[in-house]
Amino acid sequence: FTPFPGARIAVVGLGRAGLPAALRLAAWGAEVEAWDDREDTRRAAAEAGLTVRNPAEGRFRADALLLSPGIPHILPKAHPAAAAARAAGAPILSDVEFLYRAVLAAHSSARFVGITGTNGKSTTTALVHHMLTGAGREAAVGGNLGPPALSLNILGSEGVYTLEMSSYMLERIATLRFNVAVMLNLSPDHLDRHGDMAGYAAAKARIFARQTREDVAVLGQDDAMTAAMGRGLAARVVRISGLSPQPGGIWAEGRLLRDDAGAILDLAEAPALPGSHNAQNAAAAAAAGFALGLTRAEIADGLRSYPGLPHRQERVAEARGVVFVNDSKATNADSAARALASYDRVVWIAGGEAKEGGIESLAPFFPRIAKAFLIGRDAPVLAATLAAHGVAHEVAGTLEAAVPAAAEAAFGGAAPVVLLSPACASWDQFTGFDARGDRFRDLAQALAASRNGGA
Ligand code: ADP
Repeated sequence: FTPFPGARIAVVGLGRAGLPAALRLAAWGAEVEAWDDREDTRRAAAEAGLTVRNPAEGRFRADALLLSPGIPHILPKAHPAAAAARAAGAPILSDVEFLYRAVLAAHSSARFVGITGTNGKSTTTALVHHMLTGAGREAAVGGNLGPPALSLNILGSEGVYTLEMSSYMLERIATLRFNVAVMLNLSPDHLDRHGDMAGYAAAKARIFARQTREDVAVLGQDDAMTAAMGRGLAARVVRISGLSPQPGGIWAEGRLLRDDAGAILDLAEAPALPGSHNAQNAAAAAAAGFALGLTRAEIADGLRSYPGLPHRQERVAEARGVVFVNDSKATNADSAARALASYDRVVWIAGGEAKEGGIESLAPFFPRIAKAFLIGRDAPVLAATLAAHGVAHEVAGTLEAAVPAAAEAAFGGAAPVVLLSPACASWDQFTGFDARGDRFRDLAQALAASRNGGA
């Protein structure tokens, strides 16, 4: 299978996604020149058999530039390789664009689902994929969530690719047409990069750019800016909401997910989808499911059996009436606020590398905290804030110390939940939020096993 014979592709940024992408493109027949600003990364690429060359030096020779999502291509911060590509008139593309071209070269009947928005992308993406596999469809999931696009297997002719699309990726697609495009919501975020809200919304709206009337646009109605995007779209628009009726669309009435024909599912039966924000995600996933030809029963089954995503309010253990929740993905105060809002009373484990502003913004939730156990570099910073608000706390230092101490407090009746929702980055003690969450899960499960065994 060589969909790109002789295509000249420069790949810049050879990290988790970039290196496998460069190797895949080379295996697919492209003439790849690979570059990374880090010397050790370049050496790894050369050892893997890639041609290492800086495309910004000398004449830009490639037909296209695959640029890592983290590397800017817009002035004034544009990477020199991006500037060189622009000057040469070569398109700057993301890995999903190349996946799309390769898949189309193999099977023109394959289908693509793109999901974007400010919040809920990962949940909705995982949910759609879960529905598809549960219904026995051949499916792959990736993009911003899970494996990078060019690490996915090429599926058979009926395959469905469900891709979580960041605004960075959407800025760098050219021919990619989504059979189903989902825009969940928009709120101020990533404005540093896009300049203003209009620029951010415009980047996101590119998800609809290549759609035709045969395609479906699923559009959240719970914020004004997203709701307004329906005007002028080529695709058939399906409106969804977690809050208000959407005739012709899909919405939640309380916990009841429904459409014009009546109930789809009482979301009380979907334990991994609590809250009205998840009702929005469920409605969006159901709309995508219908658009892909799933039955009502298949959609309801998928919602019911959805296991949730790791590290996002993930229930990892239970012992003596105490639930252990891993929300390691909460690397800032905003996301920790969502977790704290979900429980009336918790023993809280937090800390790591604090973000600017610390945890002062969490003060409205402090009354829910029976006691806090703090870890990581900025434990003293968090401790000072908690002390100022009279919240009981202790500097535990490490997760290994915090988990048993928090568990003892909870078993003693302080709260029915031990919540890891750090409100901080993890880099001081871990390789990432996932390693931190995995460690918490191991510790909590071992502790629960010993308690349940001895009970
Ligand atoms: P993303 O991939 O867009 O970051 P996730 O599905 O990982 O989104 O959810 C991240 C957090 O955002 C969740 O823990 C939840 O608290 C919140 N969230 C999820 N879905 C929504 C939504 N539809 N609207 C608002 N907030 C949401």
